[in-house]
Amino acid sequence: MDTSKLVTDTLARGCAWLVFPAPLEQRFLRDGAAQRLLLLQVAGLGSAVFFAGMVLADYFMIPDQLSLAVILRACVYGPICLLGVWFFTRYHWPRLIEWAVAGAGLLAAGISIVLSLSSGSPLAVAHLVILSVVVVYATLIGRFWPMLVMCVLIAAGHAYAVHQHGQWLNGLGLATTLLLLSSMVFALYGNYTLEHSDRQVYLLDLQESSLQAELTAANDALALSARTDPLTGLANRRHFDDFLAQVWAHSQAQRSSLAVLLIDIDHFKRYNDQHGHQAGDRCLCEVAQALAGTVRKTGDLVARWGGEEFAVVMSHASREMAQVMAQRVVDAVRQCAAPHGGLATTAPPVTVSIGVAALTPWHGETAQALVQAADTALYEAKARGRDQVVCTPREGLLQARIKVRA
Ligand code: GH3
Ligand code: MG
Ligand code: MG
Repeated sequence: MDTSKLVTDTLARGCAWLVFPAPLEQRFLRDGAAQRLLLLQVAGLGSAVFFAGMVLADYFMIPDQLSLAVILRACVYGPICLLGVWFFTRYHWPRLIEWAVAGAGLLAAGISIVLSLSSGSPLAVAHLVILSVVVVYATLIGRFWPMLVMCVLIAAGHAYAVHQHGQWLNGLGLATTLLLLSSMVFALYGNYTLEHSDRQVYLLDLQESSLQAELTAANDALALSARTDPLTGLANRRHFDDFLAQVWAHSQAQRSSLAVLLIDIDHFKRYNDQHGHQAGDRCLCEVAQALAGTVRKTGDLVARWGGEEFAVVMSHASREMAQVMAQRVVDAVRQCAAPHGGLATTAPPVTVSIGVAALTPWHGETAQALVQAADTALYEAKARGRDQVVCTPREGLLQARIKVRA
């Protein structure tokens, strides 16, 4: 199933269980991994400092266990937390890291329960209030399901500690229990809502970017078809005109020469008459392939000019270079295309005539003069017997220039 459909389906279904279908879930974890890691790094370092600071609560509530508290908080929890941050920074396991947050919460809660159980202070049960702080801190960062599991285990640990202290029914036991349960409900509710909207926003972003990509692809396809000849796949006349205008401006600025080749298939009407229009189309495609295969320099363009005529723009090309290229095209077409068969002679190959014109653009001129000169040369090639190249002499260009101006 493609991603865009998966996203639309998931959006329609909603993500009440906070789990996407497997491929989407993997992508969600992968895409958010860097941001989550950064958050968890900051929160991990913060928790090491914050829970070391809890030693102040230990000092006032369970002073008899102060040294154990310092050892457990500063020498056990802190280093384990820092080790965890180092580990997940080095090894990127986005799924495991979420459970590691629950693990850190459980470790912090476990330490508080151990301290409370080993203390003989009258405030030992009240000391369990730290568990609520642990729950709130962890649920601010963690994902919902690991946090839910963590909360259930912390609630069980809390119940065990209150039971051990035998203070179920006295005010302190009940108060810490109620406080813990209510903070769990609020924290988990907030955590669920946050993750739900996180996931929703992610899906909407994904949908928008995939729509954007589809739109760009459709636009590209449209732009391509607007400048491509559908039969031969070559550039069409519009693309040719745009390209020639660009090369013209560039050549004018650079004072470099450019050339235009106008190519016309010889006796193509007779080819159609002999083989039919569809065979004529196939022949046009073969000639087009021969042209594209021969003119391959970047900066040159082969186009279908219209009907059975083609045109080539050669940038940075002198008259001599263009003439050589034109002769190559004549030879390539002779070799590739089907036998003509429409002529009296025994099946000679399909041939083309080519008119070539090249010049360095002058200011105030248009590319029209160049095309006109190539067209005149093409007529000359036809008149001289076809299947050949005629290159406009320099005077011919001058005449074309004057003709265009007039
Ligand atoms: P010349 O050597 O003087 O160029 O002779 P010609 O027969 O090629 O020239 P003319 O302009 O008289 O005929 C061009 C023919 O090209 C007429 C038309 O049937 C054919 N033609 C133009 N476009 C297409 C096309 O898309 N497909 C096919 N099969 N034939 C086409
Ligand atoms: Mg023609
Ligand atoms: Mg022709």
